[in-house]
Amino acid sequence: MPTRREFLRNSSLLAGGLLLAPDALFAKREAQKLLILHTNDFHSRLESFPDNHPKYPGQGGIARLKTLIDQQRSSGDFSLLLDCGDVFQGTPYFNRFGGVPEYKWMNMAGYEATTLGNHDFDMGMEHLADLIHNYARFAVVNCNYDVSKTPLKGLIKPFLVVKKGKLKIGITGVGINPEGLIPAHLCLNMVYNDPVSSVQEQVDILNKKMHCDTVIVLSHLGFEYPGNQISDKKLAADTHGIQFILGGHTHTFLNDGPVGIENKKGRKVVVNQAGWAGLVLGILRLDFK
Ligand SMILES: [Zn+2]
Repeated sequence: MPTRREFLRNSSLLAGGLLLAPDALFAKREAQKLLILHTNDFHSRLESFPDNHPKYPGQGGIARLKTLIDQQRSSGDFSLLLDCGDVFQGTPYFNRFGGVPEYKWMNMAGYEATTLGNHDFDMGMEHLADLIHNYARFAVVNCNYDVSKTPLKGLIKPFLVVKKGKLKIGITGVGINPEGLIPAHLCLNMVYNDPVSSVQEQVDILNKKMHCDTVIVLSHLGFEYPGNQISDKKLAADTHGIQFILGGHTHTFLNDGPVGIENKKGRKVVVNQAGWAGLVLGILRLDFK
């Protein structure tokens, strides 16, 4: 079993601290710090991996994750805690309790938002709708799944605006093509729309109508793929007006920190992903000047 110190070291792989050049942001107001904490692909990993696990012995689990979150928040700066989908599936907790403990954990930790991952549909849309309605004290944000003819109608937000101090932060979410990933009977009548145009539409609203200082996309598209398949990196390159894409689905550990991708207008988009299973916490420290 690793000591707490070792865990924190393991968990701070992404914690290098990122200071953005002022022109990377649409900062219009006075200086303010913001801490963005994020996870993805939690996969019902409430407990740490067993001590004899070949890859992650004794690592992960919400006790450690909460310690790390609290440690980051102790700076006293304004902070956001976000998730990028696939909260469910992977341990007997989900099979037995249907996702309730996972959502209760997210409430307790103070998550502000998550997006829809393919495995979040594993017990069907009616079940997911009940969970969101009865338990989620955070927003579920997605802009490219049309759920208006499904039980999820009214429960999924196309975008969210959060105020932190003087900053207005716009958040939208985007999901992967369900074909071949979500059995058809589990997402009946849900329409998948093109991620790039759907995201751009919401980002334009967040920038132009809501006058947000920064825009974050919670993505479950996956970090990158060979060929032309839409991914976080491709979404970054094919859009404009986004400052951060926080991703999931491909369980990518970015050990060297977030990557910067040039968008359609030549500005930098920060793309990050935090492995999976709560093994690491994504940490972005921003200085708005
Ligand atoms: Zn996934």
